[in-house]
Formats: sequence, structure tokens, C-alpha cells
Amino acid sequence: MKIINVESNNNLIKCPKCFLINIDENGIKDICDHLVFVGTSHTDEPELDKENLNSKYDPDKFDDVVEYLKSELDDNYSILIDSSTRQIDAYLVYKNI
Ligand SMILES: [Zn+2]
Repeated sequence: MKIINVESNNNLIKCPKCFLINIDENGIKDICDHLVFVGTSHTDEPELDKENLNSKYDPDKFDDVVEYLKSELDDNYSILIDSSTRQIDAYLVYKNI
């Protein structure tokens, strides 16, 4: 899995590939083909999980969902972690970008 470092801009997170606005100040806005997973540090339940990735998450094996995603997903996937602007961290996983 690749790690994407992005400075969020006015609370907006855009897809690095197609530049659709995925997250705005109110949460999830538009979902593009590349975005497969959105989770937060607030809960283990993802807000978006197109590929049912969370079903294989074992809390006994990993500290949190991010550790699980980083260890289990291959380089077709990229994760973007935004902790800059919100009280909770947001995790976005993109595929084939
Ligand atoms: Zn996209």
C-alpha cells in the first residue's frame, strides 16, 4: 500500500487522480471510481467501504483499521490520512490511482 501525503485545502480532499471533491467540510461529498474506503478514528465502522475491506479486519490482530489496511493491501491501493483540519482523523483509500 502506498501512502499519499496531501495538504488539505479549505477542508476539501480531492481525489489525486480525477480531482473530484471527495470530502468537504460536511463530510463525504462525491465518490469517484478511485475511492474505495473512507473511515475515521471516531469509529471502526467505515463511512464508505465499496470492497468490504472492513469485514476482514480483526481488532485482536491490529491496533486499528489503518494498521490493518497498511499491512493487508497491496500497492494498487493508496491511503490518504487527513489529521490536519478535523478533530478526528479521516482515512481515505484509493485504488488504481
Ligand atoms: Zn477519482
